[in-house]
This record gives sequence, structure tokens and C-alpha cells, in this order.
Amino acid sequence: MTKFTDLNLNPKVLKAVEEAGYETPTPIQAGAIPPALEGKDVLGIAQTGTGKTASFTLPMITLLARGRARARMPRSLVLCPTRELAAQVAENFDTYTKHLKLTKALLIGGVSFKEQDKLIDKGVDVLIATPGRLLDHFERGKLLLTGVQIMVVDEADRMLDMGFIPDIERIFSLTPFTRQTLFFSATMAPEIERITNTFLSAPERVEVARQATTGENIAQGVVMFKGSRKDREASEKRKVLRHIIDAEGDKCTNAIVFCNRKVDVDIVAKSLKKYGYDAAPIHGDLDQSQRTRTLDGFRDGTLRFLVASDVAARGLDVPSVSHVFNFDVPSHAEDYVHRIGRTGRAGRDGKAIMICVPRDERNLADIERLVQREIPRLDNPLAAQKASAEPVKAAETTEQEDKPKRSRSRSRKNDEAPQPEKPPVTEAANDAGDAPVQDKKAPSEEPKRSSRSRSSSRGKAGGDRGGNKVVGLGDHTPEFIGLSFKERSTG
Ligand code: AMP
Repeated sequence: MTKFTDLNLNPKVLKAVEEAGYETPTPIQAGAIPPALEGKDVLGIAQTGTGKTASFTLPMITLLARGRARARMPRSLVLCPTRELAAQVAENFDTYTKHLKLTKALLIGGVSFKEQDKLIDKGVDVLIATPGRLLDHFERGKLLLTGVQIMVVDEADRMLDMGFIPDIERIFSLTPFTRQTLFFSATMAPEIERITNTFLSAPERVEVARQATTGENIAQGVVMFKGSRKDREASEKRKVLRHIIDAEGDKCTNAIVFCNRKVDVDIVAKSLKKYGYDAAPIHGDLDQSQRTRTLDGFRDGTLRFLVASDVAARGLDVPSVSHVFNFDVPSHAEDYVHRIGRTGRAGRDGKAIMICVPRDERNLADIERLVQREIPRLDNPLAAQKASAEPVKAAETTEQEDKPKRSRSRSRKNDEAPQPEKPPVTEAANDAGDAPVQDKKAPSEEPKRSSRSRSSSRGKAGGDRGGNKVVGLGDHTPEFIGLSFKERSTG
């Protein structure tokens, strides 16, 4: 079996790898590092959780260890679709460059241009950026890309979903033809294939198995659920979620709860909190400091439930998530793979449970086609509860049932967060307050989405499926994308 020491990495990089506790390269690392060190282009087909970040950072650092950066001319460039992913890549660089003197700058929205300009002016070895922000800097004349020797595109399929492909093509064209390109994508959509054919030169193709879909270490299940009445479905669905969580008990040390829409991320997080669960939301409309705080809390174990949208959670590296709860069936089957890939990382066991309402059954069928397996049907915990209690008419079983349960102490041993001081309000009250918000907010997100439609791929990403509600990335694209676009177009 290949060891890191067999890989010809710079000894100071090796030392940092050892100190990080890694001995054996993962398959994507073993496959991508040698050709990258030889200066070849690499096309890595791998998703997060496979160790792909180190598969490009380690050879990059080794190659950049010699030489010095010049003012405003970064020597390498890493493009990431989201701020969080960019920040994570930056952390990787910090870890592996600790014994070397390499400089880096992170260009992401939500951080002042001034600070970033200062760093670039001094000259950086590694520039890590989201595409919009990079082009903003470029257009302000603060940055030259003609010194880029190595360019990395990370999570290209997500770039496609977010409409970044025209930006990526433009950035490619601003860098020297002779650059080395390391290109990573979880899937090879035709548009991605086209880009790689255009901009990569005889790449070494390294493909690793879809860890999440084939991983036997992730137990999967779906609860088929139909609300007793249409107007109660949302609150009953949240109740189903609570029951699922409770049924997992102490086995659920921490979890990411995925919703399709930002508005639902907020509602579900608020609702869980009201019921005494330690939960916080993360999505693109929250300000950066709040997102960072929430993520830090989740990483260090002080926050137990992270309620997230796809884009916000994409690529997040939280090594020990015991559970993923899909509050909604994702409308893009690919997202299911990414979502459940948050658990069962690095060989640990994980569990992924999804709630499916009738209108999402088509999307569920798409997912099962993609992962080529049937996701086991689990009993609806509400139905089980009803069966064991007095027969009650479905329409009558809403909040009242839950009240005594809430006063009972829940098995939350791992959850250090204090119980709320106020008794939680009922879902009915919650709904009364929240439902209008949802109705008010939804339409306002629509124009934002269309104003950001920078490529034809957006239409695909936000597309309706079989008359279902329109969900998907359009609702989740971080606000900064819209902002940077506006700034550019006005000046
Ligand atoms: P990534 O796919 O880059 O998001 O990495 C997923 C996780 O695997 C991160 O927590 C890394 O720190 C970890 N990791 C990276 N390389 C290795 C390795 N060779 N052995 C074990 N874990 C690793």
C-alpha cells in the first residue's frame, strides 16, 4: 500500500502531514499526487470526504516551495464555489504549509476588499477565491493572473449548478496557457466534460468510487409521510422529524438536517430550538460572521443540530457527523449523494434518514435510480405512536400529543446546550407565526434567482420537476453572488 513517504512530497509537507495524523494516502491522493507533482494536468472525479483537498494542496505546496511571489501576481489559484469551501481549503493550506514560508490570500465575499487588496499587493503564493469575488478584484485592476502557474477548480459540478461556468471560462482565459490545471468534480456532466476538453491538456484522469452511494457504513432509510390535512402537513412533518431524532436517542451525537429551501431551513431550525433541541440554521442569506459562528459551534461540538441548505453545507468538512436527516427529499438526485456523504466519513458508521411526502415521490424514485438501490422504508414514528395509543382520528393528532412528551426529559446526553428557559410554544403557535413568513418570502426569492441567471445551466439547476414546487439551488445560492454581480455591472 502506498505511503505518503513514497510520494515525493517536500519533506516539510510530509512532516505536516504526519503531524496531522495521516499515514496512508486516500485513493484520490494516491492517484492525483504523483501526476500533479510531475506537472501534469489532473482531472479528479471525486466528491468531498474522499480526501480530495489534500490531493491538490500537498502537490501544490511541494511545487510552490521553491520560488517567490511577486506583487499582485499570485503564483497559484484555487477556485471554489462557496465561501465555506474556500475557507476550508485555506485551512488545509495553513495545516500543510506550517513548516514552510508560503503566503496565501482568501478572496471571498463578506470580507473587506481593503484587507484582501493589501495581501495581494504584497504578493501571494496561493490565492483561494470564489469566482465572482476574484473577477471583482481583477476588474478593479488590483490583480494580475498572468503569473498563475497552477490553477485548481474545486467542485466543478457545483460551479455548474451555481451558474459559474462562464466565470470559470473567463478566469481560465486570463491565466497563462502554460499553467498546470488540477480540476475536480464529483460528476462529469456534459458541460463539465466540455470545459475539461477545452482547458485541460492531456489530463491524468483519476476517478474514485462514490463513497457515499456505495458506502456500506451509511445506514439509509426513508419515512413515507402524508399529512393529515394539507394545512397541517408542514407542522406534522416537523413533528415526524422530532420523533425520528428522539428514536435515534444517544446514537445521534450530532446531525445535519437538510431542507430544500432557505425559508424552511429557518423554520425548521426555529422549531427545533423551540422544542428544546440545540439547533441553528445555516444558509447563504445569513451574514458571514453568523455562519462562521454556527459552523465553529457545530465543529467543536457545542451545537448539536445544523439545519442547512445544500449550498451552505456543500463541501463542509465535519468529520464526525453521526446522522443526516433529510427533512426534504432533494429535488436533484445528486444532492442526496452529497448530503448523506456528510455522515459516515473516514470509515465511521453513519445514518441518513429522509422524510418523503407524496409530492416528492418522483424525486425519491430519481434518487433510487441514481444510487441504484432501494432506500429502505422506515415506519412512520407518528403512526407507530398512534397505533400504540388510543385510536385517534388522524386529523386530531397534532400538537396536543406532543405536549406531555416535551416535558419529559429527552435522551440528549451528548447535547450540552441548556434547555430553553421559556417553555416551548406549540407548533400550532409556531405555524401561526411562521407560515405567513414563508408565504411572504417565497415570491421575493424568485426575482433574485432570475437576476442571477448567468448561464443556461441555472435554468437546469432550478428546474421544476413534474409540476412539483420549484426548489433547488436557486433558493440557496449565497447572497454574495448577487452582490458581486451587481457591483461589477455598475462599475
Ligand atoms: P476532503 O475530501 O478533502 O473534504 O477530506 C475529508 C476528510 O478526510 C478531512 O477531514 C481530511 O482531513 C481527512 N483526510 C484527508 N486525507 C486523509 C488521509 N490520508 N487519511 C485520513 N484522513 C484524511
